[in-house]
Amino acid sequence: MTFGIAIHGGAGTILRSQMTAEKELLYRNALQKALDAGYHILERNGTSLDAITFAVTELENCPLFNAGKGSVFTHDGTHEMDASIMRGDTLEAGAVTSVKNIKNPVKAARAVMEKSEHVILCGPGAEEFARQQQIVFESEDYFYDQFRFEQWQKAKSEGKVQLDHSDEKKFGTVGAVALDRFGNLSAATSTGGMTNKRYNRIGDSPVPGSGTYANNNTCAISCTGHGEFFIRAVVAYDVSCLMEYAGLTLEAACKRVVNDKLVKLGGEGGLIAIDRAGNICLPFNSVGMYRASRKEGMHREICIYKD
Ligand code: ASP
Repeated sequence: MTFGIAIHGGAGTILRSQMTAEKELLYRNALQKALDAGYHILERNGTSLDAITFAVTELENCPLFNAGKGSVFTHDGTHEMDASIMRGDTLEAGAVTSVKNIKNPVKAARAVMEKSEHVILCGPGAEEFARQQQIVFESEDYFYDQFRFEQWQKAKSEGKVQLDHSDEKKFGTVGAVALDRFGNLSAATSTGGMTNKRYNRIGDSPVPGSGTYANNNTCAISCTGHGEFFIRAVVAYDVSCLMEYAGLTLEAACKRVVNDKLVKLGGEGGLIAIDRAGNICLPFNSVGMYRASRKEGMHREICIYKD
């Protein structure tokens, strides 16, 4: 069977007018590193679950994206991260929400899926579970980033809760979807959520069916964008449903949800998707979306804007 992988580093992106050649290269290199990490696992007969875990871990370790190390600041000056993972063969899923100091929340989400009888664990309880599973923790310093700090100060002084860098329409959540040689689909998403968020706000990223979904009968999806709208539109599951129950192709289903349903609701963002035949779709209704993909035997594709 064929295999393939797609990743994203968030929808929205820096406006083209503000993107410099140096910055673009940094983003492209980071996307390439994460894509290659996942692709090589698939190439060596690894599982889609391992491929997406490694790809998302790479992105979480990169300060350019709003996940793991690069997570945005909350209203209280901390970092609260959300992540989820799902496998398409058994429909098992795992997620953590509002966790602090976990280096790679995607690994904690995977531990919830594989080592607990639950699907979603939250806050201190999720951290306690992660510690028991030998998940790596980092100090606050590890998550400090001058750019994020300034972003937070600005949002705070304006009394705003922002989606990463909404002035520039930048959503930096990360995610990966993959199909392996065994026909198994998997998806994962990880985020720091919204700058200056409070009240333990949780977006779509850790919600199976909204921000992440995988089903071997249809597709694997990871979303990025304005989470509140993605939750209300049950975006990831909706794409799968349109394929399963209405017989739409992956492309038609993605178009319906991202460029029609979400647009009507006012939900900005996009998603990455791969179906059981290895078709890849990377739709978005925002200015851009950091994204990359590679199918078996093909060259990698790395894009930021519409073309
Ligand atoms: N969907 C994420 C959230 O609402 C944000 C993003 O995609 O950047 O938390």
